[in-house]
Amino acid sequence: MFAASIITLFPESFPGTLGVSLIGKALREGTWSLETVQLRDFGLGPHKNVDDTPAGGGAGMVLRADVAAAAIDSIPRNGRPLIYLSPRGKQLNQAMAQEWAAGPGVILLCGRFEGLDERVIEARGMQEVAIGEAVLAGGEAAALVLLEACVRLLPGVLGNAASTVEESFSDGLLEHPQYTRPREWEGRTIPDVLMSGDHAKVEAWRRAQRETITAQRRPDLKGTRSGD
Ligand code: SAH
Repeated sequence: MFAASIITLFPESFPGTLGVSLIGKALREGTWSLETVQLRDFGLGPHKNVDDTPAGGGAGMVLRADVAAAAIDSIPRNGRPLIYLSPRGKQLNQAMAQEWAAGPGVILLCGRFEGLDERVIEARGMQEVAIGEAVLAGGEAAALVLLEACVRLLPGVLGNAASTVEESFSDGLLEHPQYTRPREWEGRTIPDVLMSGDHAKVEAWRRAQRETITAQRRPDLKGTRSGD
């Protein structure tokens, strides 16, 4: 079973959006599990301090390596990757979500303040993962995004397994446009080919759309389609 363990100062951030709809149902049914570990519980002294001033000076506070390590070491690893959500990390992509969804789960550390002491990232072999090239106030929203991308790929979570195969990124292409009723809306009609009932023609049209949209919007996506 995919098991997520999340180290955070704000456990109330979870399950958040992971508690709704089909992903929330799968959580309640035990298709996957989520536990939060309160970083503050590993804090030092009467005030349970988790942070201190940055070495070399500067603004803000840095999460302590010893405190973070104590929280990390309290969690059974069980073969799971240890991930620090960080704007410096590798950008999350669909291939990463697929790899983690196929494994035993993930251990996530959500940073706050100016971030985490570098030494614990090195010493515990943490993988840094970013959600977008913008800076958030903390890693919690990023953890929700990472987990949602993984959990929706687990067998049995979404009703229609095909919906995760024929979608943006899974074959290196962005998705084709989607339409539904009514056939005409504000003078705009659904392309005729989609109403033709000719499955092969529909597929050819969608494929051409996917190629065009990908070339226009994301020429950097290589189109890593299997069988091509
Ligand atoms: N001083 C840091 C930013 C710290 S933001 C820097 O300039 O890189 C505080 C925390 O929010 C980080 O420790 C990280 O866990 C989280 N965070 C911020 N932006 C993020 C992003 N784009 N992706 C993932 N985590 C992010």
